[in-house]
Amino acid sequence: IERTLSIIKPDATRRNLTGAINAKFEAAGLRIVAQKRIRLTKEQAGRFYAVHKERPFYDELCEFMASGPVVVQVLEGENAIAKNREVMGATDPAEAAEGTIRKEFALSKGENSVHGSDAPETAAQEIAFFFSELEIV
Ligand code: ATP
Ligand code: MG
Repeated sequence: IERTLSIIKPDATRRNLTGAINAKFEAAGLRIVAQKRIRLTKEQAGRFYAVHKERPFYDELCEFMASGPVVVQVLEGENAIAKNREVMGATDPAEAAEGTIRKEFALSKGENSVHGSDAPETAAQEIAFFFSELEIV
């Protein structure tokens, strides 16, 4: 059993899509074992996305992630990291497969509705960024 960190991004919370996105996770067999709705500062978003610091879209990404509430969550299941990324679809909604969250809901490559950890090491780091072990049940 594996855990991954998921974020429902501001473009999705703004459009009241939290439940629709959570339904996709649950239909795929992922269990939401921790969840909270928070507003990140630009500085906090910058720390979370520090791996992208040198990328041209870093500043825009941090602004966007601080532009409204996000729902941070821990998803649990067999191969949760890969399964979540499959349900999310490609970064660019134009390239995302039919039925994926990004195909259905994302507005653009930047405002793409969800984040999901990409490997076991980053999942552990990202979960610890938002949650204590006691909050994950
Ligand atoms: P995430 O890490 O959010 O799950 P990802 O792994 O599919 O998405 P990354 O390459 O890690 O994509 O990029 C992180 C985030 O940065 C993307 O989800 C998107 O919001 C933003 N981003 C990536 N590429 C671009 C771009 N070319 N222009 C604007 N924003 C971008
Ligand atoms: Mg990524």
